Amino acid sequence: MSVSDPTTKPFGTVFAPRMTVCEHVHDTERNEGSWTDWKTTPVEPVSLHPGAHVLHYASSCFEGLKAYRWKNGDVRIFRLDKHVARMQKSAALLHLPIPAPDVVADMIRTAVKENVDHIPDYPGSLYIRPTLFGTSVDIGAAAVPSPDALFYILCSPVGDYFSGGLRPLRVLLADRARSTPEFGMVKAGANYAQALGPVLKAKADLNCDQVLFCPAKDPQETGAANFVLMDDNRIITRHLDSNFLHGVTRDSLLTIAKDLGYAVEERGVAIPELLEFCKSGEAGLSGTAAVLAPIGTFVFEETEYTVGDGGVGANTNKLRQALVDIQAGEADDAHGWLTAP
Ligand SMILES: *Cc1c(COP(=O)(O)O)cnc(C)c1O
Repeated sequence: MSVSDPTTKPFGTVFAPRMTVCEHVHDTERNEGSWTDWKTTPVEPVSLHPGAHVLHYASSCFEGLKAYRWKNGDVRIFRLDKHVARMQKSAALLHLPIPAPDVVADMIRTAVKENVDHIPDYPGSLYIRPTLFGTSVDIGAAAVPSPDALFYILCSPVGDYFSGGLRPLRVLLADRARSTPEFGMVKAGANYAQALGPVLKAKADLNCDQVLFCPAKDPQETGAANFVLMDDNRIITRHLDSNFLHGVTRDSLLTIAKDLGYAVEERGVAIPELLEFCKSGEAGLSGTAAVLAPIGTFVFEETEYTVGDGGVGANTNKLRQALVDIQAGEADDAHGWLTAP
C-alpha cells in the first residue's frame, strides 16, 4: 500500500481522504425539509453551531461495516443492505430525518470507490462509518426532534484486529443494563456514553476487557459486541429483542453455523447455565470489527470462571474462519452477502 500503513495504528485512528456527504435542510416557513444532493468531499472538519441539537440532546446514530480487498484486487462490501436497513431503523427511533436506502447505499459505494487506493489487503479492510446527526440550532428542543441533519460516510483503513494473535478476553458479568429496551437495538451514540462508566470500572478494578451486561442476571451483550456460546454441536445466542443491538455478524455466524450442521438456539441463557456451559463449551463476542473474539475467563461476583481451557476453542476458530473466508473471497458467497462498490 502507498498510504501510511494503517495496519500498525489503533483501530479507527487513520482515515481515508474522501467522504460522501449530504444534508437535510428544513424550511421553517414551509415547514418541510429535503435532502440536498450528496457529494464527495475531502475529509475535513465539519462546522457546527454551538447550539446544534446533537451537542445537547445526543441526536446521533451511526453504522459500521467493512469493504475487503481480495487477493485478485477485487473489492467487496460485506452485507451492505443489512447495514443500510439498520441505519434506517436507528434514524427512525431517534426521530432524525431518514436518508433513502438507495441513497445511503450509493453514498457508501461511492465512498469506497473514491478511497479504493486506501483499502488495505486482507486481513486488513476499509472500515466504513456512516454517521447521522441533528444539526438544528435550538437548545430549547430537549423534547423536540432535529429537523435538520448532516449525514456522511467516513472511511478508515484498518489492520488485522488480532495482529498480536487471538487473545482470549476477560469479561465481567455485570448485573446492570447497557441501554434501555428500544434504544438497545439502535446504534445511537448515547448508548456508548452510558456504558463507558461500568466498562472503565471493570478494567480498573478487575482488569476485565469487557462487560457483559446482564440486567436482572439476564445476559444481553457487551458494550459493542453480541454474545455467543458454542460447542461441537450447537451455537446459542440471545433471541432478538429490543434490548440489544441486532448484529449483522451475529446473523452471519448463525447462518454459517446452520450451513456447517450446528443446531442454532436463539434464546436467553441465564448466568448459571452460562457458567455451567462454559466448563466444557466456548464463548465469544461477535461484531464487525473483531468478527468473533474468544472469551477466556468470566468474572462473576468476585469469582473467576475459566471458559473451556481458557484458550481459543476449535469451534470459535472454525466459525470465525468460515466467515472470514467468505469476506476474503476465499469461499463461495452462497448467501449473496458481498456487493461490488
Ligand atoms: C455494532 C454493535 C454490535 C455488532 O454489530 P455488527 O453488525 O455485528 O457489527 C453489537 N453490539 C453493539 C452494542 C454494537 O454497537
